[in-house]
Amino acid sequence: MRQYGQANHFQVTKIHSKGRGWEEGFKERNEIIAQYCDYIYSIAESPKKTFCYHCNKTDHEKTAGCWTGKKNGNYEVVILE
Ligand SMILES: [Zn+2]
Repeated sequence: MRQYGQANHFQVTKIHSKGRGWEEGFKERNEIIAQYCDYIYSIAESPKKTFCYHCNKTDHEKTAGCWTGKKNGNYEVVILE
């Protein structure tokens, strides 16, 4: 990923979770990402089980990427077909 960033002129920084699970570390990690990033791309699947209540849209599955993007305020959703 770092090489991809260098080739495309953007910085890549890994931010790891302290634990596994939303309250065990994922939420804190995503809050850091939301503060640190200029722009968030949320990669989401087509809707399968739960539509995205973060975006309040039915065209993609919910994802913490949208939660992070919404917290940041500057994001877009890329829906995988
Ligand atoms: Zn969403």
